[in-house]
Amino acid sequence: MDAYHLSQRLLLVAAEVFPGAFLADIGSDHAYLPANLALKHQIRRAIAGEVAWGPYQNAATEIQKLRLTEKIKVRHADGLAALNADEVVDVITICGMGGALIAQILTVGWDKLQHFPHLPRLILQPNVGEKIVRSWLQQHHYQITAEKILKEDGHIYEIITADPAGGKVQPLNQEQLLFGPILLAEKNAIFQEKWQLEITKLRKVLQQLQCAKKEPVAKEQQIKQRIKMIEGVVNDKS
Ligand code: SAM
Repeated sequence: MDAYHLSQRLLLVAAEVFPGAFLADIGSDHAYLPANLALKHQIRRAIAGEVAWGPYQNAATEIQKLRLTEKIKVRHADGLAALNADEVVDVITICGMGGALIAQILTVGWDKLQHFPHLPRLILQPNVGEKIVRSWLQQHHYQITAEKILKEDGHIYEIITADPAGGKVQPLNQEQLLFGPILLAEKNAIFQEKWQLEITKLRKVLQQLQCAKKEPVAKEQQIKQRIKMIEGVVNDKS
């Protein structure tokens, strides 16, 4: 992968960034996503924020090499601290980290976003903990407007796009928070594969618990219930 050739995962993220946007890519690593969008003239400008020194240097070198320093500012910063007070971005992407960390970055940065004349679109790609991300969005009156699921290099990824709903957010139930409201309505083949894998994993854990000398009954019950709930969703073809 490089700035000219994005992974399928980042291509799907890029497709959710609207043309002409001022983008903040938080946890940018090599800054391939903003660089690709800038090379294709699909964004006005961007900030690439990165908290770790090595990836920050990679990003800075990449942007210099591509002669994109006018359009893309690379900042060594934690989360939304990468944005200066007067920088009102239209879109924030946070991809390739856990859902809890994404939610934490957004919570810490929320005060800053409150001063924006309009809240930005959020495009989030948690590697795990998607439910935490959807719960955060719901609590902060963001409506999920698109969801994608893909398999690449043996991993299954979800991409969640959300826009500010101005207090008119449609509440999500527990199933929608876990499975994703749009992914749940579609139930495509990758979705089925993801949740079948989860059932297999849970069955293995259950077997291990049942082999233990002193069976942890409450934990067993919890896992059985979870398997039943997932099977209910996966097998429901309505
Ligand atoms: N976003 C890229 C992608 O999806 O391909 C890179 C993903 S990489 C696995 C996650 C990056 O997020 C790492 O470079 C890490 O240093 C950075 N990161 C983690 N926590 C961060 C934070 N609080 N603020 C900024 N960057 C962070």
